[in-house]
Amino acid sequence: MKIKLILPALTEAESPFWRPIKYSLFPPLGLATLAAYLSEDDEIDLQDQHVEELNLDDEPDLVIIQVYITNAYRAYRIADFYRNKGSYVILGGLHVTSLPDEAMPHADTIFLGPGEETFPRFLEDFRKREPKKVYFSSKRTLEKIPPIRRDLIKRNRYLVPNSIVVTRGCPHHCDFCYKDAFFEGGKSFYMQVVDDALSEIERLPGKHLYFLDDHLLGNAKFAGELFAGMKGMNRVFQGAATVDSVLRGNLVEKAAEAGLRSLFVGFETFSPENLRQSNKKQNLKKDYEAAVNRLHDLGIMINGSFVFGLDEDDEDVFKRTVDWGVKNALTTSTYHILTPYPGTRLYKDMESQGRIMTKNWDLYDTRHVVYQTKKLSERQLKEGYDWAYNEFYRWKNILSASMKHSSNKHKLKHFLYTGGWKKFEPLWNFIIKSGRLNNMLPLLEAILSKVKSERKNEVNQNRIQPILQDSPGIDSL
Ligand code: SF4
Repeated sequence: MKIKLILPALTEAESPFWRPIKYSLFPPLGLATLAAYLSEDDEIDLQDQHVEELNLDDEPDLVIIQVYITNAYRAYRIADFYRNKGSYVILGGLHVTSLPDEAMPHADTIFLGPGEETFPRFLEDFRKREPKKVYFSSKRTLEKIPPIRRDLIKRNRYLVPNSIVVTRGCPHHCDFCYKDAFFEGGKSFYMQVVDDALSEIERLPGKHLYFLDDHLLGNAKFAGELFAGMKGMNRVFQGAATVDSVLRGNLVEKAAEAGLRSLFVGFETFSPENLRQSNKKQNLKKDYEAAVNRLHDLGIMINGSFVFGLDEDDEDVFKRTVDWGVKNALTTSTYHILTPYPGTRLYKDMESQGRIMTKNWDLYDTRHVVYQTKKLSERQLKEGYDWAYNEFYRWKNILSASMKHSSNKHKLKHFLYTGGWKKFEPLWNFIIKSGRLNNMLPLLEAILSKVKSERKNEVNQNRIQPILQDSPGIDSL
């Protein structure tokens, strides 16, 4: 059987502000995971439109398309195209799960929720010529899943080919997050068997790994065993976790020993009221600066995530957030305009209040204002968001944030990582065009090498310097 798996490009990937490097980071792991259930006799073509031109001049028997909100219209067009050609088309992913009625007219079958259990079930039915219209995942487990078909991934087109996911979902329930909608009707946080995860890591070449798990530290027992198993593997890795998990216990120390060198942390907002309204309880009354210092003490760089446009945000929020990031030496900041994704509690609330201004999903890219704001005007929010990005990544601020670290090595790493990531677009474009992105991996690994912090000593000395005692915690900002 001829099978084609497609990840259509996100709309924002083609905007004039498109940074090709941002969309050439990770391969389509979800599709490669599904491909593992296919037979060895199947002829499989996996295409990622972010890194290659789609070849539509073929006639597959089965087409599988992964749908996100901002590639939804494109995904539907591709689906219609292949159905007209006589292929059997299935659609799945976050957006399909949120809006099945919208996706259904473009597909022969749709998948709701994760596919590890439903996809093999579908294949069995399909081979018997009895496929159903809808497959809903209710049994959730990662036990006995076959090894991901990484051989289908064109590794040289990605900066981070060794991306990996060892858990699914997250233990928290933030109102603006897709997670609850996607995992509705079954377990919403579950993990691989530790030994399986370690075997998968062992199969990956080189040193660097990027864990794409929503919350790598979300289950302390699992994460502790994983990091214990990774000790001595000589890996460096990046991942994501919450503020509270950084502050709790000693898991983050174990992660650092195993090779954690950079962490994406969802700070989101400094306002307790915003946190309460968003049901982001895990951040309430948490000392953000203590979390930052703990990570820096372990030589871990930080990518801070922040949301603008929550109901309590006023026009000062942009400067306050940028200043805090620079002052606390965040290596990178990711800013988002609040976006009420369909299926989330935030969307339902906003819709019931008549605040959704457009249902053009192409604009739901966290760079546009798609809802009625409260304390900020739509224009203030958009301009503030653009200003924050420009301001945080000015050379002056990159240098200032870098110099806040205690060791010279950490200062240099910070400067190279941030500058390299944001300031050399033409060079990245050249490397991507020459098909040698993967050659940059040793440089990334070098930048992620271990640093020892001298900050503890400094902090002790600084206790007698009143000038440094003005750092406000989250609740006082
Ligand atoms: S902590 Fe992150 S992944 Fe988990 S529910 Fe909240 S936003 Fe989603």
